[in-house]
Amino acid sequence: MLEVIRLDESRGLGVRALRPFTTGSVVHRFAGVVSDHICQHSLQVGDGQHISGTRYIGYLSHGCDPNSALDMANFELVARRDIAPGDIVTVDYAETEDRLHRQFACACGAGNCRGWITGRVEQPNEEGQAWLTEREHQARDGC
Ligand SMILES: [Zn+2]
Repeated sequence: MLEVIRLDESRGLGVRALRPFTTGSVVHRFAGVVSDHICQHSLQVGDGQHISGTRYIGYLSHGCDPNSALDMANFELVARRDIAPGDIVTVDYAETEDRLHRQFACACGAGNCRGWITGRVEQPNEEGQAWLTEREHQARDGC
């Protein structure tokens, strides 16, 4: 029902739907190893607890207006809107992660794109502050 694919060089791996999912349906039930260790493909399941070794969810792409959400109480990936076969499955990293393994500039294209993605309790790092300042200048100068 899902497969891990290589999106491109900059975005790395992602997860693609292989069949349709309707809004509110469970896209995937996941399992893995829960520990206090954060790595690139781990996801936070609770305070200081992170799941790794998952088959798909560690490879989900971030979207600021994602088509799915993670239910960390029930270990379910749920469709926030209808998903078509071939769609890339996305979640908002800040919904689960206090801190990201690595902050990054987002190009998800959503109208509400936050631009620079951090965990929910952390501030943009030095690179992020420079990126956001640059974006403000561009918006002000209109170029
Ligand atoms: Zn975005």
